[in-house]
Amino acid sequence: MGRGSAIAPTLDAVAATPPGQAGLAALAEAAARTLPTAHSAEPYPPDDGDEPLYAARAKVYPQHVSGTYRRAKWAILFVTLGIYYLLPFVRWDRGPNAPSQAVLIDFPNRRFYFFFIEIWPQEVYYLTGLLIIAAMTLFLMNAVAGRVWCGYLCPQTVWTDLFQAIERWTQGDRREHLQRDRQPWSLERVARTGTKHFLWLMVAWWTGGAWVLYFGDAPTMVRDLATFQAPFVAYVFIGLLTFTTYALAGWMREQVCVYMCPWPRIQAALTDEYALNVTYRYDRGEPRASVKKAEGLREKGLPAGDCIECLQCVHVCPTGVDIRNGPDLGCIQCGLCIDACDAVMKKIGRPTRLIAYDTDINIKRRQQGQSPFYRIVRTRTALYAAIIAVVGAVMSYALATRHNDGISVIHDRNPLFVRLSDGSLRNAFTVRILNKSLDERTFVLAVTGLPGADVDVIGSSSFAGANPLIEVGPDQSREVRVLVTARERIAAGASIPITFSIVPKAGGAAAGAGDHFIGP
Ligand code: SF4
Ligand code: SF4
Repeated sequence: MGRGSAIAPTLDAVAATPPGQAGLAALAEAAARTLPTAHSAEPYPPDDGDEPLYAARAKVYPQHVSGTYRRAKWAILFVTLGIYYLLPFVRWDRGPNAPSQAVLIDFPNRRFYFFFIEIWPQEVYYLTGLLIIAAMTLFLMNAVAGRVWCGYLCPQTVWTDLFQAIERWTQGDRREHLQRDRQPWSLERVARTGTKHFLWLMVAWWTGGAWVLYFGDAPTMVRDLATFQAPFVAYVFIGLLTFTTYALAGWMREQVCVYMCPWPRIQAALTDEYALNVTYRYDRGEPRASVKKAEGLREKGLPAGDCIECLQCVHVCPTGVDIRNGPDLGCIQCGLCIDACDAVMKKIGRPTRLIAYDTDINIKRRQQGQSPFYRIVRTRTALYAAIIAVVGAVMSYALATRHNDGISVIHDRNPLFVRLSDGSLRNAFTVRILNKSLDERTFVLAVTGLPGADVDVIGSSSFAGANPLIEVGPDQSREVRVLVTARERIAAGASIPITFSIVPKAGGAAAGAGDHFIGP
């Protein structure tokens, strides 16, 4: 912003001199200084050694703006916040023995429910798949259009946008708010500021409240919270989220994006020259001059840019960036400066999109009289899309073909084997059987790989032939101790592979797990 506004005195100086090559040269020189990434061989002002390394925060007063990107941001804000606040109340019928909440993280029973999908702790690899897809989607967005995630979808942006709307509603738009902040405290100012903080706290509290509803039956939880019968930890989390939302979206705002979030740094390392970024088209904008001066220059056949130095693009920016200075880590690619500048261009009768999603390559091509070109499909975007498709397909296949039951086996470590009084050898195992169906089921347990062995389940006396029967409740897992006794002689040091398998007594597919029978 400092470099951008530094051009104004030079413009005045140029205006004071008769039009000619000397004045234009000074103007071009000033423009070059303001556009380090675009033009200059000397990208930064010389370091005189006196510049402090610390700069105090300049509070940002973002001005309201209307336009395409603002409308898109409102739409995304309503949809995302609507989903967040209301989703816990959406019901999903899973039958009599299962919760009816569409999205539920059920910690006591160690389950995650997402509509028709139910994830058990043993299936946490689905989470890995989801994380890979999320990361690749973020990379893909970045490769196509820079930090659009930050500008439109990031929770920090969405909540900050909402908090800023409340601020404008209570304390006025930029100019009014700035004036009020410069005035001494009055009753009106106290009332407006108090209302703002009250509304901020209400939104923050609602945000924390909605969060805990994902961890229990929402209507029951609301009643318990209201009657102070909810678990203490629920109140703790509501308090924590109320505080963090209020602090991050109300007070820290753009500082989270500029200083705290690692994504701008990662994104800067991931991007390439073809990614569309919010770009000031300096090929159109320079040299900057007022409408009148620019018209005068054009009438004389001299070059004049479309930028009139109105600073509307800076005033609407939620992070206080002057995008005319070139790419900036503070820019979240929200496009609000495009809306602001488009409105200005319409007013002065110049073509819109002086600021636009574009690339420096295209600016250079236009300067050379070539038409711009856009490369959305390139190696990295194709690679990200392919990874998303493959992981998504694998996850879908795994979900579609997943079994309703499962078994896992752990061999006793100490002792590895026991010699019985009749000389036979026994190994003990801990077997966990999963019944993911919503009906109670009885499984027939069999051990193969050790002919003639006896299989006993501690606490179970039901058998189908020589095989023990194990009952498992609906949507539950059951852990049992299983003793396998070899009746034949086992060689010293033997480690015989064996397989534990379960088959539903009522019929169905078998599930199995392997382990070893350890000899003396
Ligand atoms: S809004 Fe457009 S015309 Fe005004 S300063 Fe920004 S780029 Fe220049
Ligand atoms: S410079 Fe423009 S796109 Fe970047 S954060 Fe500011 S308003 Fe949004």
